[in-house]
This record gives sequence, C-alpha cells and structure tokens, in this order.
Amino acid sequence: MKPLKRKYCPNCGSPNIKWVIPQMWSVWECNECGYTGPIVIEDEELAEEIRKNYLKIVRK
Ligand SMILES: [Zn+2]
Repeated sequence: MKPLKRKYCPNCGSPNIKWVIPQMWSVWECNECGYTGPIVIEDEELAEEIRKNYLKIVRK
C-alpha cells in the first residue's frame, strides 16, 4: 500500500476535507469551515500554522 498524503483545508487547516465531485478532480469541501475550492494543502507544517490562526479567530 502506498502511503496517502494527508490533505488539509487552506482556510482552517483541518484534515477533515473531502473530494466532492469526482468528475472534477479539483473540487474539495471542508467539513469544518465549509470551504469549497480547488486548493488543498499537503504541507503538514503549513496546515498547522493555518489551524492555529484559524482557531484563534474562532475562539475569540
Ligand atoms: Zn476548513
């Protein structure tokens, strides 16, 4: 088995995203913040940064 690269939401840094339209490979939806779009992050460190900033804003 190939290890799957984790993907993260570019808006909130959550790994809880899904590929919504299989015919259109580039559309993703985030279950946490509702983001939809073609951009996902595969860099875990960057995702963590985004996540921290997002949670700061949300918890205010
Ligand atoms: Zn999100």
